[in-house]
Amino acid sequence: AEDKANAGAIGAEGEGSGEGSGDLATEVARRRTFAVISHPDAGKSTLTEALALHARVINEAGAVHGKSGRKSTVSDWMEMEKARGISVSSTALQFTYRRGEDPVPSASGTEFDEDARAEANRAAAAAGAKAEPPNVINLVDTPGHADFSEDTYRVLTAVDAAVMLIDAAKGLEPQTLKLFRVCKQRGIPIITVVNKWDRPGQSPLELMDEISDEIGLVPTPLYMPVGIAGDYRGLLRRGEDGEPSEYIKFTRTAGGSTIAPETHYTPDAAASLEGEAWTTAVEESELLSAMGQDHDSELYLAGETSPVIFASAMLNFGVHQILDALVDLAPPPRARETVAETERDVTDEFSAVIFKVQAGMDAAHRDRLAFMRVVSGEFDRGMVVTHAQTGKPFATKYALTVFGRDRTTVETAYPGDVVGLVNATALAPGDTLYSGKKVQFKPIPQFAPEHFAVLRAKSLGQYKQFRKAVDQLAAEGVVQILRNDLRGEANPVMAAVGPMQFEVVTARMMAEFKIEVVVENLPYTIARGTDSESAAELGRQRGVEVFTRSDGELLALFGDKWRLAYIEKELDHLTIEPLVADA
Ligand code: GDP
Repeated sequence: AEDKANAGAIGAEGEGSGEGSGDLATEVARRRTFAVISHPDAGKSTLTEALALHARVINEAGAVHGKSGRKSTVSDWMEMEKARGISVSSTALQFTYRRGEDPVPSASGTEFDEDARAEANRAAAAAGAKAEPPNVINLVDTPGHADFSEDTYRVLTAVDAAVMLIDAAKGLEPQTLKLFRVCKQRGIPIITVVNKWDRPGQSPLELMDEISDEIGLVPTPLYMPVGIAGDYRGLLRRGEDGEPSEYIKFTRTAGGSTIAPETHYTPDAAASLEGEAWTTAVEESELLSAMGQDHDSELYLAGETSPVIFASAMLNFGVHQILDALVDLAPPPRARETVAETERDVTDEFSAVIFKVQAGMDAAHRDRLAFMRVVSGEFDRGMVVTHAQTGKPFATKYALTVFGRDRTTVETAYPGDVVGLVNATALAPGDTLYSGKKVQFKPIPQFAPEHFAVLRAKSLGQYKQFRKAVDQLAAEGVVQILRNDLRGEANPVMAAVGPMQFEVVTARMMAEFKIEVVVENLPYTIARGTDSESAAELGRQRGVEVFTRSDGELLALFGDKWRLAYIEKELDHLTIEPLVADA
């Protein structure tokens, strides 16, 4: 049998996204733009590397942390980043992937004819460049470590799908849950990957129960693992009514550094090969079907169910099944809603939304990079587009797809692609760029902050400059800025999703504005929306403080959930509402 039957179809030459068909509808249809949502240590970096191994990387954008040095680029943004050994930037990795052919049953009907499949894959790859182009996958990185911040959430406004990566032993963890809620709220469909199946963990059904009980997402495994966690042998592919359609057996390679060879067996062959482990997998699969947990495209796209794949990113088991699922199930780029309550269709003229702005990545130049996700039309470097928020023209001479140290110019991009724009001083997250017919997309919601601190200039003499710097950092979306009369203009309060955002402010104040600041943490942990009628009374309560955010929203801050619950109960005539991302 041809061990690398699938690998044979990957990496054919001449498949770069820049060399696409040029036909807009085709370019859109072959794209998948997704992010991995996970808790630190679930294996996101390892999975990213494993995915890259299966694909032809076109653009690498510092998405991979430099654990092994393999396929890694490290951005040199600020000393703080170096000191911590983490990447502050949210960036993107783009690659092509050609889905392998499904196995072809041999004449005997009990085994699959791997030679026939390998041949089909080779033929497809050879014909590929001309016939059907491969898929183009954009993996947008969510900073998922200690640097959890608003940027993490904003990335989710730039993707069409998400992979929820969970550790088989730990199950759902806090950061995964937070990100899941944002996906749910934005209607982003989720594929679940249970990682580290090569290590002891919970049983597949326990994990499935945990997902449906805790977050109400109905898991619909595409495959069942054969062999318990810690004894991962392969995958049972689920067919109609949970009936197994084939067995994919994996073989370990040294250190998982190459694509794990797969051998495909018919269910009958699998039963005699794996015995009890196979029978268990079949039973589990049928049980799930009996409970209605079979993949349903409509329910998946509606965010109600989630296809599940059991994998080991480290051993490279189940990894190309993840790519296949993205290609087969995840949605291509879609129309986006505008402030006028209309939609900009993907095949309309060029438009894009800024989802992240990063300043001072290059120490020598102190430049600003804005990352846009193309929403509609074709982007060609050099085109002069309009910045919807100011109505001013924006020249796109400096457009990049590789960020961090290695920057590569991008000439053409299509809906779903991420492009970095240099010297983008006027652009802020949520802004729209367009050409042709005017469009403005809905703003990115300001997420519910959980960390609060007073920001002060050390020297009062710098007040004017300080004020200007604060306004600029707020406009860029680095932190949210809250003010109230009691504290006064000189003592704005920073509000953030992650405390690291405060460090970014401190560092940038010094580096760019030469202002030394003092940061004083406040003991609040919860923000709620309120209105002008309720503000005064609410503000008089012990342990509550009311602020006006720079976007005009009134926010009430509470010390903890008990204080909040008490006040909600005692003063139920007051308006106290969850902020958008709490929903
Ligand atoms: P991240 O924090 O989510 O990016 O996680 P990493 O990719 O850095 O992985 C965290 C740790 O888990 C590392 O020590 C990895 O080697 C390990 N790891 C990741 N994937 C697997 C896996 O599939 N199996 C096992 N046994 N370990 C894994």
